[in-house]
Amino acid sequence: MCYKSTYFKQAKPATVQPQKTGTMAQNDSGNLYFLLKIKVFLAHLLRKGLTLISPDMTAALPSGPLIVLSPHPDDETLGAGALIARYRANGHKVKIILATEGAGASVKGLGEPDKIAALRHKEACTATRLLGVADGDVVFLSLPDGDLIKHQAQIQKHILKAIRETAPALIVSPCPEKCHDDHQAIAYSLRTLAREGHVTCPIFEYPIWFFPQKVLPCLFGFIKNKRQRKIATKPYLKTKHRALVAYKSQFYGQPTERMRLLFKFIVKKPALGDYELFFTFDKDAPEHRC
Ligand SMILES: [Zn+2]
Repeated sequence: MCYKSTYFKQAKPATVQPQKTGTMAQNDSGNLYFLLKIKVFLAHLLRKGLTLISPDMTAALPSGPLIVLSPHPDDETLGAGALIARYRANGHKVKIILATEGAGASVKGLGEPDKIAALRHKEACTATRLLGVADGDVVFLSLPDGDLIKHQAQIQKHILKAIRETAPALIVSPCPEKCHDDHQAIAYSLRTLAREGHVTCPIFEYPIWFFPQKVLPCLFGFIKNKRQRKIATKPYLKTKHRALVAYKSQFYGQPTERMRLLFKFIVKKPALGDYELFFTFDKDAPEHRC
């Protein structure tokens, strides 16, 4: 997930207030906070509607190994935790590639990136174990958080290695959301490999930061090309919830009211719904960049 996104880079300067104490206003001005609430509500409605019209792929999932690409520790669980648990419960190998250790996140009480990275690494180990993934199948690339766009060649090398070793039936990757450079870097790394003929299995892309103003431009393209899919979280929702709670720094460590609001309604609530939402990728279709 990680907060080091272009969205927050734009939003933060307007909201930081000089040292008022005791209320929400210490971090957020009233009007902007109200506007944010409306955006969050619209995002919630949009995502609900999209899930409603998405074909249910649960019974038609490809059988075999699964590769999951994750920009930051927790993205894999937020976007595809139930899917991962489902594949493991069905005896399929699941390989998770974690590109960064999320050192760029804001965590209450923890200011040093090294400490944040160490904590999030540990949380990722716990969460992926809870989902049933063997320690040896979780690969940490330890690339710089917020700077993945400069490391796409390295990312592609590791994806190719995982494909050779795993022969996946399905690859799950982040949706290239405009509000997050790292999510785009991973998505475009995989899309390029697919266009070059290195990926023969289906690719499902999971959205995390689902802001209407950021996803709408590409959302129309997704819907027009019927790319939206949903996969039931039951009976793996409790497992996913347990894994998500293992990410304590993200669940309980947001330093501002704004972060808590966004995390709760944009990220956590949809992640714990009845379905996980994905967009399929077709290498022959026109590119829809968010
Ligand atoms: Zn992320």
